[in-house]
Amino acid sequence: MCRHLGYLGPDQSVGDLLVQGENSLLNQSFAPRDMRGGGTINADGFGVGWWGADGFSRYRSDQPLWSDPALQETLPSIHSGAVVAAARSATVGMPVQRTACAPFSDDEWAFSHNGVVTRWPESLGELAADLPSTDLLQLEAPTDSAALWLLLRRLLGEYDPEKALATLVTAVIAAAPQSRLNLLLGNGQELWATTWYHSLSAFVDDERAIVSSEPYDDDPNWQAIPDRHLVVARPGHLIVTPLEIGAS
Ligand code: GLN
Repeated sequence: MCRHLGYLGPDQSVGDLLVQGENSLLNQSFAPRDMRGGGTINADGFGVGWWGADGFSRYRSDQPLWSDPALQETLPSIHSGAVVAAARSATVGMPVQRTACAPFSDDEWAFSHNGVVTRWPESLGELAADLPSTDLLQLEAPTDSAALWLLLRRLLGEYDPEKALATLVTAVIAAAPQSRLNLLLGNGQELWATTWYHSLSAFVDDERAIVSSEPYDDDPNWQAIPDRHLVVARPGHLIVTPLEIGAS
């Protein structure tokens, strides 16, 4: 399954963030440590988004992280204090294309999904029936993750991020049991994440808040997030609460 990373802290090079640490996102793209049976490498493209004075910007590619020249030629000179990145391993049957790579975004929001929705697309048919048909016609990519983003984006119009994520996970697990739903959401000031089957760790001190599918270095301050939990993180602040299925 894919690997994702969210960073909030002092301004730093976006390119450096992807390669820093002995288990950087770059390393996780070709030698991940904790895939839990969901694939072996994350070579089906990548994406990175950052917030700056002009709002949210992103770069996505259908190339493996290690072979895209932007990693050395462009991204190192971009600096930001708020970043979301992901390296993709396409689920069997889903296309390898740039627009299928996280982060998905709208307004200030950026979103990534590590996992799979079982029996997609049939399993999401009923949930998607509530969405405006024009949104469905504009779906960025024919993948479970793009559909999850559409559903979450709608919930974010009604609820705060915690409740929107919990509501989405509850609804998708009811419709598609056995789904794997590690979700990551950012708005440039805060990060929210869920664990539902896959690995996730957090590193939070007074200056930084980082959530990552795998710790990117051996710093003992990384904290493994238990399965089926919701994370809210910003510098100096980490809250981890159980995701109660059925709660809405
Ligand atoms: N199922 C999604 C996709 O194929 C998520 C990728 C993943 O976690 N492997 O894009």
